[in-house]
Amino acid sequence: MNRPIRNIKQPTLISDASEAQFYEFLVNDAPVAIYTCDKEGYLTFFNQAAAELWGRKPEIGKDLWCGSWKIFYPDGRPMLLDECPMARTLKEGRLFEGATIVIERPDHSFRTLLVFPRPVFDQENKLSGAHNTLVDITGKQTVEAKQAFLSAIVESSEDAIVSKNLNSIITSWNKGAQHIFGYTEAEALGKPITMIIPPSRLHEEDFILSKIRQDDKIDHFETIRVHKTGKEIPISLTVSPIKDGEGKIIGASKIARDISDRMEARRLLAEHSEKLEILNDLGKIISEKLDSENILQKVIEATTKITGAEFGAFFYNKVDENGESYTLFTLSGAPREAFERFGMPRNTEVFHPTFSGEGIVRSDDITKDTRYGKNAPHFGMPKGHLPVRSYLAVPVISNSRDVIGGLFFGHRESGIFKSSHESIVASIASQAAVALDNARLFEEVKMLSAKKDEFIALASHELKTPLTTVKGYLQILSQSTLPDPTRFAGKCLRQVERLHSLVEEMLDVSRIEAGKLQLRIQPFDLKQLIMDVIDNFSYTNKTHDIIFDPPDGTCFVKADKYRIEQVLVNLLSNAIKYSPNADKIYVRLEKNHASLTVRIKDEGIGLTPEQKSQLFRRFYRAVDAPNIVGLGLGLYLTREILLRHHGKIDVFSEEGKGSEFYFSLPLE
Ligand code: ADP
Repeated sequence: MNRPIRNIKQPTLISDASEAQFYEFLVNDAPVAIYTCDKEGYLTFFNQAAAELWGRKPEIGKDLWCGSWKIFYPDGRPMLLDECPMARTLKEGRLFEGATIVIERPDHSFRTLLVFPRPVFDQENKLSGAHNTLVDITGKQTVEAKQAFLSAIVESSEDAIVSKNLNSIITSWNKGAQHIFGYTEAEALGKPITMIIPPSRLHEEDFILSKIRQDDKIDHFETIRVHKTGKEIPISLTVSPIKDGEGKIIGASKIARDISDRMEARRLLAEHSEKLEILNDLGKIISEKLDSENILQKVIEATTKITGAEFGAFFYNKVDENGESYTLFTLSGAPREAFERFGMPRNTEVFHPTFSGEGIVRSDDITKDTRYGKNAPHFGMPKGHLPVRSYLAVPVISNSRDVIGGLFFGHRESGIFKSSHESIVASIASQAAVALDNARLFEEVKMLSAKKDEFIALASHELKTPLTTVKGYLQILSQSTLPDPTRFAGKCLRQVERLHSLVEEMLDVSRIEAGKLQLRIQPFDLKQLIMDVIDNFSYTNKTHDIIFDPPDGTCFVKADKYRIEQVLVNLLSNAIKYSPNADKIYVRLEKNHASLTVRIKDEGIGLTPEQKSQLFRRFYRAVDAPNIVGLGLGLYLTREILLRHHGKIDVFSEEGKGSEFYFSLPLE
């Protein structure tokens, strides 16, 4: 076991003294560390390089080969003295061809050494000592480790790290490059870098090369490159020149980072700030404007932009007299003609939830909705209409829970509208509803104020006319020489009665407004009352015949007789007033199961549908003819009186042909 593995020429065998001196000088001056020791391990010789490597000069014959330095394995674990190659050489007589150890020197610096301990035998072939050569590989180790470390970084980088020569030929290609551009290292090496540059950007390569040739660096250059599949990828590029040992530029290294996420984040940020700006502007407009047309136009423009819709529209929740049509109020992103054949959205199953205020409808593909295509005449999208797949409809509901209308958005592609759009539009819709309510109130106030002015002018005129007449007659009466004074007294009386009824009408209106209209309910025969009223009219009115068609028997109701008489008088005087060219008025009384209906029909000027819708409002006068007196209060009072009796009133009318006002009173 203690046998030498091979014979080593022993330095002590050198016989010639000058030759020995020469070798000693050679060893002493050698650039590698060399030492010898006896079989106990005490140093017998060391050269200059060894002392430098150890960082101290040990004492011959007193210091052991291992001196006082600590010894480690290359991975940093402490090495026990027994485990040291030299200790094993002394113990086992074996030699080592370059084992690696690390020593810590007195100044605490570390050195990595390749050691070559060899045993020395005497003439009897007994181990008499050993010698060792120490090669300092500290620097080499660091360079190798550094290189390994760097290439590990390059390989594990998520960025593409690529190098190319000055002919734009790829010379290295890491895993990141493979991941970002799709080509493997084998596919990329030796190929021109232009394979990942879109044709429209080839000029960039010339620019990059010219910079590199001038020893310039390109930092964070944002551009587009192409993946193996042809997909374009936004990247941020940093290009630096590569130089050889003599500093000559021989190529370029490129680091490319995929910035798709960054670009997407930037796009989202820009989109959000644009949306915020739109919302901010809209908020201002909504709170400042009091005209509904303007508000709706702005709302639809903003919401169309925010949702990314191809078009947006607002439909009023209104029906015309046939109960069908709708009002398309405002549009954005599409020509009005595109909607012309749209049919009546209010009546279709798809639109119904919006107009009934049930809630928001959002569909990725409306043509796949079970409610879609159910309604005549189009059963889906009318021919020539904008094709719609993505669909979003949000009701606009007022404070009083009325559905004012609906905001509708469409896009020809599917899946455009998201839940975030839904909530933004819903919140705009509720702000818009408040603004529309305010606009409506403002319009009403404006209209009422105009009506009030009109009424004051009218009332002064209406009150002045009978007063002037009365004054005239009283002047005549004051001349005692008149042959028939009672005739003038009668005329005076009629004018005073007219004055009285005008003032009464005005007082009734204020009583109704103040909720102070008192009713004296009692049972009476409505048929008898109608006959009495018609009888009275026959004294004062000579122009029209009032033809009454009564039912059999009595027709008792429980009501305020005086107020119902007022209703009859109002309707009959209107029938006479507004049929100046006719000479007949028809009155019918019908007995129904639970109510009585009175119909008063004339053949007069009639009403337009628009006039009909306003008829029962205060101060409303459809005709402004100076020869027809009135304050626009009669029908308002009539309706209020009937409502307080749980009755109702309505009218059939045709312009130029006449009107039939009919009212009902419950039997009980
Ligand atoms: P007025 O004092 O003006 O008659 P009313 O309230 O009685 O006020 O009627 C309101 C308006 O309705 C009238 O000004 C008139 O234009 C219209 N109107 C009422 N009755 C008739 C009718 N029988 N035929 C046509 N128009 C009518």
